[in-house]
Amino acid sequence: MNEWFLRTFSSENWSWKIGNGNSIMFWRDVWTASQSLKVSYRRLFSLSHFQDAKLHEMVLLLNDESSLQSELWRRQLRGWEIESLNELTMITKNLRFKEGYDEVTWIPGKGSYTVKKGYQLISNCSYVTTESWLKLWKIKIPRRIKLFYWKVSHNILPTNSLIYNRLRKGNGNCVWCNNAMEDHSHILWSCHYAKLFWKEVEVWWNISVDKVLPNHNMLFNLLNIISDHKCKSAWDISVASVLWSLWLARNEYVFRHRVVDFRSEIMLSKVRSYEWSIKSKVISHNSYRLWA
Ligand SMILES: [Zn+2]
Repeated sequence: MNEWFLRTFSSENWSWKIGNGNSIMFWRDVWTASQSLKVSYRRLFSLSHFQDAKLHEMVLLLNDESSLQSELWRRQLRGWEIESLNELTMITKNLRFKEGYDEVTWIPGKGSYTVKKGYQLISNCSYVTTESWLKLWKIKIPRRIKLFYWKVSHNILPTNSLIYNRLRKGNGNCVWCNNAMEDHSHILWSCHYAKLFWKEVEVWWNISVDKVLPNHNMLFNLLNIISDHKCKSAWDISVASVLWSLWLARNEYVFRHRVVDFRSEIMLSKVRSYEWSIKSKVISHNSYRLWA
């Protein structure tokens, strides 16, 4: 298979030339054969947790032998679904990425390229680069938390605002304050309930989180607060644990009508990050002081 992997579209006048696989949507774009994988592998697409994954991300996931099936799919695959998956994995196995962006190429003689059309295409791309996503993926946390991180970084966490925008259900407001749209940045960062958590984290880590802005880069801003290499891995794990706790607390309230005490939740969050750090050998048993 060519390193430069060019396929034409049946219904459009352009094709993708694969670069770093960072702009092409694995399921939704037409980058192999004449239709999207969402159409050719309809069942697998409907079962995928990663429907909005970029080409490079999905290829890594499919070929990563440590990926657990339960983390990739909404339920266990059976019979012909497994055969479809094998076929799909074969397609991706020989793909070679190269440095530089994926490019849109207008097919000569099939209408003219306009900047507007090109822009529309590019602007559908997510703001998360494969590089930044790969950094997230390498953080030593359990896979289900990686899946959670993936949703946060791609802005597809099932918050009230997402559900309202996609399905017109509810009013999209925050479950805690009912005073703002509940997107991931609000529920995990700027809501007063989340702020209580982050105040505790400031004391715990002896840092200030003031500079983190409530926008789509919130997660990456948070992770960048500590760049010191020695503590960096432990910090990345702790951030994951705190964000996960905030999300669990929100879900407890939504699905079980139970308000969890934030102090016990922050304790749990510390315990969890300590366990993950020990398990991944980011810290040793006797460096528990940070967690005391
Ligand atoms: Zn709120």
